[in-house]
Formats: sequence, structure tokens, C-alpha cells
Amino acid sequence: MILTINCGSSSLKYRLYNADLTEVVATGLVARIGEDGAYSKHTAGDKEVFFRGPIADQKAAFDIMAENLMQSEFAVIDGPEAVTAIGHRAVHGGDVFVESTIVDGSVMEQLRACVRFAPLHNPSNIAGIEECRRRFPDVPNVVVFDTAFHQSVPPEAHVYALPYELYADHGIRRYGFHGTSCRYVSQAAADILNRPIEDLAMVVCHLGNGVTLDAVKGGRSVDTSIGFGTFCGVPMGTRSGDFDPAIIFHLVKEMGMPLDEVEALCYERSGLLGVSGVSNDMREVVMRADAGDERCALALNIFIYQIKKTIGAYAAAMDGLDALVFTAGIGENSTEIRSRICEGLGVLGVRIDERTNLLVQDGHPNISAPGASVATLVVPTDEERMIALDTVRLVTESGRMPPPIASQALVHAHDA
Ligand code: ADP
Repeated sequence: MILTINCGSSSLKYRLYNADLTEVVATGLVARIGEDGAYSKHTAGDKEVFFRGPIADQKAAFDIMAENLMQSEFAVIDGPEAVTAIGHRAVHGGDVFVESTIVDGSVMEQLRACVRFAPLHNPSNIAGIEECRRRFPDVPNVVVFDTAFHQSVPPEAHVYALPYELYADHGIRRYGFHGTSCRYVSQAAADILNRPIEDLAMVVCHLGNGVTLDAVKGGRSVDTSIGFGTFCGVPMGTRSGDFDPAIIFHLVKEMGMPLDEVEALCYERSGLLGVSGVSNDMREVVMRADAGDERCALALNIFIYQIKKTIGAYAAAMDGLDALVFTAGIGENSTEIRSRICEGLGVLGVRIDERTNLLVQDGHPNISAPGASVATLVVPTDEERMIALDTVRLVTESGRMPPPIASQALVHAHDA
């Protein structure tokens, strides 16, 4: 069986697949670790287990996972030996990791060196790997990086026009995020269109709490909206997206705002929340905008405008556009936002069929209008499955696991 782990600072998500990834055997979430209101939820087949109570730290979260998987009355495996490989999500691989890799001592060392780029995320990712190495001895671990897919972005798009030494000596550059999602979704889109990904120029719109727009040409990321930190690009739930950095000097020097506060303002108090003043949740912003709230309407207009502008820029950067792909919470679920983003993109060849746009949930991923030169698709993302696929591929290639019997199509597994 293959286990995937997504270990954040206050949450642990896990998923257990059968060996050929045709079935999700169990999934779980441990949330609000170390905070008030901590809980866990574990699903295996038609059984669900909830726990609510104090969960002190990541070790306690892993205890819950181990108990759910191996000891409780709903246990799905007898012991750690049943797990053949483990895949981990890591947020930042710096410019060292250009693809997923099997964990060994030197990988752990390099991962630690990348903590300076993602001080909030990488330490928890590392802690998750260490927990697994301890609890599942001799089981190979694979690490899959959110940044790796974007390592193909060329220098003119990843080097900032700052003194070159900052790039060469200090690694200050565009890294991008949500790469695992964009890689999965772009390949799934090519599969849906039944065309080789090598022939396609597409813009992936990963619209969740975090937002990435990604230009994917020939299956390679060639430009991406998030940069060095995770608040630039398009506005997000609480993150600002791009703004003039001179504002930071003004906040600090003229308004006397401490730097920590500026940082919190950019990451936690901006975006939909900052403009609307009420919520970072798109559903609520849309509902209030519809009811006449002007600030919510403005937050929505900014969000849509910046996405449209970036799609146009990426079509220019790729010298054409074959597909526009929506994914993640907003992209998969909001008919209205998809429609408003596509409105006026006829100049690029994007035209959608509003009736099909309503039917996406009924298995109609292609929402293009007949005759549109750009295919517009809605593709649910599945980062866990991408992590599991990489894990099986690398561990099989290394000879530590026999090749699985079933073919591993990208979009495949039945959820638990
Ligand atoms: P995360 O980045 O945390 O994984 P998700 O991909 O789950 O986020 O996306 C969360 C966002 O999706 C929230 O802003 C939520 O309001 C939005 N969302 C979910 N369903 C809908 C919907 N039907 N209409 C509009 N927005 C939606």
C-alpha cells in the first residue's frame, strides 16, 4: 500500500492507496494541531471516525493516524510492514530540487537548507518525514515539491530585475507554488482533450484559498504568478497579490508600522478579506456582492480583473493559447466566476457554453462553446494522487518495489 502525507504546521492530511493506486483505502485529516478546537476525521470505505479533543503536537497527530490505520476497530492494515512506500508533500525545494526524489540523508540536509525560503512550512514537512522514518522503518520515503514543476520557468521569467548577486548568491528569484496541482491538472487536461501535452499551450487557473496562474507550454511550466514568497501574483483569500513594493516603505517609514505587522498585513489581512472587510471565503463574498455590498463587489472585480489580465499576459508569453483550465475550490465550483473570467476573453479565442458551464459537476469538463479555438476545461485537482504516482514511479525505478500490475492512469482512483 502507498501512503501519502501532507504535514503542515497545524494539520496532517493522509491518504492510503492500494498498491496500484486504483483504490483509496483510507483518508484522514488531523486539524488545528496545538490549537483550541483540535479534531481528527478518518474515513475508510463507508466508515467515518471523528475525534475532538486536545492534540498537542505533530507527534500526537501521527499517533492518531497510526491508531486509525493500524489499531482501531476500523483499522485497514495490520502494521507498518503493509506500507510499501510513503510520499510526502514539501512546500519548498529551492533551486536544488527540480523533481520529486527519494529521501536519504543528503536529501534531508538539503531540505533543511531550504527552510530559509519557507520558514512556516518546510519545518513541518521535515518533521512529517522524520516521524514516518521512525514509525515505518525501512519503508522508502519520496518527497514531492510544490516548487519543482516551476523550475523549468526560463530566466527572463524567474530572475527579478534586482542586483544580480541577490539571485546568484542568495537564491532570490521567482519559485512559484502549487506546482504539484498544476502538473496534475495540466496532464489531466491533455488526457481529456486526447492530445499530447507536448503540443499544448495552456493556462492553469488554480483558484483556491491560495491562487496560482500557471503558463504551461509543452507540459513545462514557463511562467507562474506566485514568486519568491507566497503572497504575490493574483489576490487570494487573505493574501494581497501584486502591489507596488513602494507601499511597504511608506507603511514602515511614514506610518511607523513594524515590519512583522506589514508581513501579516500582506499574508493574512489582504486579498478578498482585506478589500471586502468581511471574509476570505469566496462563497460569502459572492453572496454579499449579490446582495448589494459594494466592497464585496469590488473585491470580486479585482480578483476577476487580475486573473483575466494574467491569462492575456501568459497567452502572449506562450505565443498562443490552446486550453484554459480551471481547478481548486473556486475554479471547480463557481460557475459565476468561471463565466466572469471568460467574459471578454473572446479576443484570445476563449468562448464558453454557459449551459455546459452549469453542468460541470455532472461530468462535463469541457465547457467551451462549439467552434471556440481555445478549449476551456474544469479539472478537479488531486495533489495526493500526483504524490502517490511519483512515489510509485520512483520507488519502482529504484528497484525497491515491484512494478504495480494495473496501469496507472492519471485520473483513476475511487475515493474512500
Ligand atoms: P485550499 O487552497 O485551502 O485548498 P480550496 O481549493 O478548498 O482551498 O478552495 C477554497 C475556496 O473555494 C474558498 O474561497 C471557498 O469559498 C471557495 N469555494 C468553494 N466552493 C465554492 C463555490 N461553490 N462557489 C464559490 N467559491 C467556492
